[in-house]
Amino acid sequence: MAAQGALWSEFSFVVSSGVRERVIASLAGTPKVPKQLAVETGLRIYHVSRALRELSDRGLVECLTPANKGRGRLYALTDDGSGLLDYLAQSRRRFLPVPARAHAAPFVPKIRASTLLRFLAQLRASQGESAVREAVEGWGVNPSDLGDDTWLSVDAYARFLDLVEAKFGDGSYAFVRAQFAEAVASFPTVREQISLPIPLEALAERATIVYGKEWNFGRMEVQTSKRRAVFAHFDWMPTPAMCAMFHGVYEGVLKARNFPGKVTKTRCVRNGDDRCEYVVAW
Ligand SMILES: [Zn+2]
Repeated sequence: MAAQGALWSEFSFVVSSGVRERVIASLAGTPKVPKQLAVETGLRIYHVSRALRELSDRGLVECLTPANKGRGRLYALTDDGSGLLDYLAQSRRRFLPVPARAHAAPFVPKIRASTLLRFLAQLRASQGESAVREAVEGWGVNPSDLGDDTWLSVDAYARFLDLVEAKFGDGSYAFVRAQFAEAVASFPTVREQISLPIPLEALAERATIVYGKEWNFGRMEVQTSKRRAVFAHFDWMPTPAMCAMFHGVYEGVLKARNFPGKVTKTRCVRNGDDRCEYVVAW
């Protein structure tokens, strides 16, 4: 897919609106005119036209007959649109059956702000208060409005991480990864786990508990063997910063437990795999 970097935000953009999702799904395989789409989706033509406009603006849908007037225009998915639809279908299949709801509440992938607040505290300590303030100036969210129980959209979280990398990193996200490795032991839900007097293998298996408290979507699986744990993250489209975040998080937990070890990224949704996978060995 040409715009791989944008796939996550396109995914949220589409799933945040049932209308867009139905229009894009209805275009699978065959180009259609708005009227056909309206009949097939059961949506009003006005809503179909608006969704087509929005999806065209994002490069997910294109008009094949721009010379035609309004409702006679034929629309098709672009390569990016087809790629996104494949991804949507793949993540939906794991949750079947999905009832067809005409007015489903929009689903917004979210993450708890408590981790971001601890990360910010770490960042202020390492980079200074004013540099951090400059970094998040254009974010659109005021960090002082956030509490541990505030839920942030994953899009906003991703934008935040990109601002941080742009300000302090070199574009490789090594900075984000290293800062998460430092900060993770202070995350409230992580802290309560790493303080348990249990072997690292047992601790690794409890990562799903933490995940369930921090994210409102997606799924993670853990497989452990002696001195080794494999963490798999399904059903999401991470930004590069988010992959770096998890990499750093696993490194930070090893460090907090004083285990010299190594975290290796072995699969990534961004590379077309069905999961992001981190292998931790110690
Ligand atoms: Zn990944």
